[in-house]
Amino acid sequence: MSEEIKAAVSDTSRHFLKQWVAEDVAAGRTGGQVVTRFPPEPNGYIHIGHAKAICIDFGMAQEFGGQCNLRMDDTNPSKESDEYAENIKRDIRWLGFDWGEGFYSAADLFGKMYEIAENLISGGHAYVCGLTQEQWKEYRGIPTAPGKESPTRNRAPEENLALFRRMRAGEFADGTLCLRAKIDMASPNIHFRDPVIYRIMHVPHYHAGDTWCIYPMYDFAHPIEDALEGVTHSMCTLEFEVHRPLYGWVVDRMDEMGLLVVRNGVKIRPQQREFARLNLTYTVMSKRKLLQLVQEKRVNGWDDPRMPTVCGLRRRGYTPEAIRDFCERIGVSKYQSETDVALLEHCLRDDLNKRALRRMVVFDPVKVVIDNYPENQTGCAEAQNNPEDPGAGTRQVPFGREVYIEREDFMEVPAKKFFRMAPGQEVRLRAACLFTCTHVTKDAAGVITEIHGTYDPESKGGNAADGRKIKGTIHWVSAAHAVPVEARLYDRLFTVPDPLGDAARDFVEFLNPGSLKVVTAYAEPALASAVPGEKFQFERIGYFCADPVDSKPGKPVFNRTVTLKDSWAKQGK
Ligand code: ATP
Ligand code: MG
Repeated sequence: MSEEIKAAVSDTSRHFLKQWVAEDVAAGRTGGQVVTRFPPEPNGYIHIGHAKAICIDFGMAQEFGGQCNLRMDDTNPSKESDEYAENIKRDIRWLGFDWGEGFYSAADLFGKMYEIAENLISGGHAYVCGLTQEQWKEYRGIPTAPGKESPTRNRAPEENLALFRRMRAGEFADGTLCLRAKIDMASPNIHFRDPVIYRIMHVPHYHAGDTWCIYPMYDFAHPIEDALEGVTHSMCTLEFEVHRPLYGWVVDRMDEMGLLVVRNGVKIRPQQREFARLNLTYTVMSKRKLLQLVQEKRVNGWDDPRMPTVCGLRRRGYTPEAIRDFCERIGVSKYQSETDVALLEHCLRDDLNKRALRRMVVFDPVKVVIDNYPENQTGCAEAQNNPEDPGAGTRQVPFGREVYIEREDFMEVPAKKFFRMAPGQEVRLRAACLFTCTHVTKDAAGVITEIHGTYDPESKGGNAADGRKIKGTIHWVSAAHAVPVEARLYDRLFTVPDPLGDAARDFVEFLNPGSLKVVTAYAEPALASAVPGEKFQFERIGYFCADPVDSKPGKPVFNRTVTLKDSWAKQGK
């Protein structure tokens, strides 16, 4: 055993899956290459839960210098499509992972699976069964008492084979017959009680066309796919734990048929292990529910920036780095839990803070007139693009006698500890100058229409020449140069932490009616040429991203990615 592998095996800080793989590598069970797979079903877009599985599957292969295959687990033609498959590929690439030559589709193995099924029948390991759905359930029974045998369980293999071939030939209607593995009707594991392994479905397949009218079940197909691809470690979520004996049973049969891959003289027996799925507060994750939101037009498509889909997160302004960091931080365990969505947002802010360019945008403008600034003169403030990254440089922001500030940054009678703009209280206009309000004008209703005052011509860049301390700094835009932009203020899609937690109510009742507000904001001119997808921090407001779909240079549209307030950091976590 090499020192490296010894160290890997004895490193108990590694999560249980790493430990498991390290032991197999050390024992020589992988034939020199760890092979994992990510097996999405192309029946929807992948979401942040899948991102966790992707980080585990691809991450483990990377860690052990192995290979992770991408396999479309497409055994249910009624819900699958090429559009989904293509988008899954694009999203995984965007997350930063690469399957190299290892792209597979279960559908490419339908012929092989059929052959294996025939072999099982011939060997007395499978039979055709005609129980109805209800009968099947009743015969299967409950875990604490043995089930009942199907009347055709002991039919001769030749008869089963003939029937199975007729099933394939399309002689029977959907649901009339199925193929079952002959295992153990008394097993305490219900999945071991002669599970269905093939069903009749007269539905063409997005990838296999209309070649088939019988399709293998997931529990049968998955171990076959793993075995034929030479997968060494097959990781999935906990709900599959009870299916593991069946997985092993299928692999055993393949072993008997001599179908296991041999790598460097080692026969590869794929093994399955399970980890807890990701659940997030304020989020629903099941593809079925996400599809419902799309179909009922509760959101604007799978890539709506409020969706937890990878394409939705991307459009919202998430970075792959933030998502991978999140997946790293939540770790891997078998413990079912709910992760606070604030952690995901925290990882996002952490990353955007380092890379997002700072810009000034005013959302609720009130005009400030600098009475001692020459009329018709345009000045320039040199502002830092990102104080976290000196390499990002500076930019010139036009400045003039009239600027807009946020209405809430002014108080006529300042509250205690209000250090922003107020009469007689000097404040910094970010990167431009120091300004002191002298008076305001109001309309008939008493609403402030203009704030007047003077600036200190010596306060270049917003710093006092004599070094006096200024407590408040606010953002602004030049009134003459401000560019109106559309801002889409996204918020959480649900109002409660667990939208599925109330069995008596449909989860859509908990949709947040304020999850999207569209407003016009006033931006510094540099933002007019924002490139779709480009990310910014609007100073003191939040992180925004030029919408990758609707934003055009000259007519920018910004999605609010996340506000600046970090409730995770605040909790001191
Ligand atoms: P959903 O339950 O959202 O419909 P699924 O499990 O049906 O998802 P698949 O395409 O079959 O979706 O999943 C591909 C892989 O992603 C599986 O191995 C599955 O275990 C894993 N996965 C799905 N959801 C999560 C999640 N929330 N957390 C971690 N892994 C997940
Ligand atoms: Mg599934």
